[in-house]
Amino acid sequence: MTQIAARNPRTGQIDWTGTAAGPDQIAAVAKRLRAAQPTWEARGAASRLDILRAFGQALRRHAEPIGAALEADTGRRRIARLEIDSVVGSIEAWACVIANDTPPEWIQGRGLPSVRHTAAWKAYPLVGVISPWNFPLLLGMIDAIPALLAGCSVVVKPSEVTPRFIAPVMAALAEVPDLASVFTLVVGEGATGQAIVDMADCVCFTGSVATGRKVAVQAAGRLIPAYLELGGKDPLIVLESGDLEAATDAALRGSVLSTGQACQSIERVYVQASVHDAFLARLIDKAHAVQLNWPDIAAGQVGPIIFEKQADILANQIVDARTHGARIMTGGVIEDHGGGRWLRPTVIADVTHDMAVMREETFGPILPVMRFETVEQAVALANDGEYGLSAAVFAGTLEQAEAVGRRLEAGAISLNDAALTSIFYEAAKQAFKASGLGPSRMGEDGYRRFLRRQALIANTAAPLPLAAFSEDAGARP
Ligand code: NDP
Repeated sequence: MTQIAARNPRTGQIDWTGTAAGPDQIAAVAKRLRAAQPTWEARGAASRLDILRAFGQALRRHAEPIGAALEADTGRRRIARLEIDSVVGSIEAWACVIANDTPPEWIQGRGLPSVRHTAAWKAYPLVGVISPWNFPLLLGMIDAIPALLAGCSVVVKPSEVTPRFIAPVMAALAEVPDLASVFTLVVGEGATGQAIVDMADCVCFTGSVATGRKVAVQAAGRLIPAYLELGGKDPLIVLESGDLEAATDAALRGSVLSTGQACQSIERVYVQASVHDAFLARLIDKAHAVQLNWPDIAAGQVGPIIFEKQADILANQIVDARTHGARIMTGGVIEDHGGGRWLRPTVIADVTHDMAVMREETFGPILPVMRFETVEQAVALANDGEYGLSAAVFAGTLEQAEAVGRRLEAGAISLNDAALTSIFYEAAKQAFKASGLGPSRMGEDGYRRFLRRQALIANTAAPLPLAAFSEDAGARP
């Protein structure tokens, strides 16, 4: 049995230890959930929704311990509370999605008029959810809730970096026994994730491209679907007609929110040459005003870097940029306070497209700004990279922004704002390129992808005799 030790991102101390679930435990969990799943599926969506609503209320009753655990996991307070609100609110959002779900009708055949058909939807019995450390509760539940609503049983394995919230969520879940029979969260590491991929009928993975590739290969070996939500390197394009005040606000929020530890963070900015210097000056002013949430967790906008090794990735990208001639205009230094590691918003000027900070995922509050002359250049630069999660465009009119946005190779495009997918969940979208695989996790597809479509085909006439298929059947007079 592997012991897990979790480091507190504010203090640097190991203040949590636990045991990772091994393959035998995962097999036992899978057996228990599978046994209860047919009853869960047979209840119907309305009954499952009622039970999920009861779970939402239980999460609210347990909001204090869950919030405190998330605070220890992530070193931030306000976002910890927002994670709980967002998960509870998502249950009602899914209720709206399934409200339009009408039972399939029988359809008369066109080729064979005596044959009609209809559809039935069958849930994957067991869905495995593997989630990352940046929004531990939100990303653990984002796929679990629609999967449960669809009639699946679900096992969630959060990141070993942020395991503290699991116990208080399990305490809330214990108050809803009908749900606890088909849903659980397990403490685990990478090997636990692998054991889940070995047991599940369908996998939802949120995490890095490198691990996503491993999950995809393992799932392919078992011929089960793997829905992958992976990394990003989101560009923001600012045309000279764009509102610089709004664009700098959006760029900063898109980069700094959650200390940049969000898949849809703005990680590179392209500004038209005629407004480049004005944009940069405003961005620098605004970046200077951003504060750390240290020593007061209730103050400031920038929390600690949750995963310690991430601080080294950020530091290396800054060094690489400086070495290759870029200018660090703000921030730029990993600060150690009380054992935690912080980075203030780091605006970088004079970058080129071969620098690591323009090509590799950053996952921190670093904003490299590059100038462009023509819209053609901006589109080419934004599309030059392995990721295609989301992107943003600022222009004088929405029509102008839309015209550029439609040319970008990314799954979600924010127009005259940035990173809208972090606050608006209704628009269905898919990840492009290496940023993911599978149907949208938002909208109707986000529910439907947990159901397999079955065709029921009825013949209302006598079955066709074998003679109808004889080689000489058509030749007879
Ligand atoms: P990782 O890929 O390192 O880990 C993700 C999860 O996979 C963790 O629970 C991890 O467990 C688990 N895991 C590790 N190895 C395996 C394996 N071989 N098989 C199955 N599971 C495994 O990602 P991070 O936790 O570092 O998260 C950051 C990444 O997530 C960034 O790239 C970010 O862009 C991406 N992300 C994408 C989002 C999206 O919607 N597209 C949203 C949020 C983040 P353990 O941690 O215990 O090792």
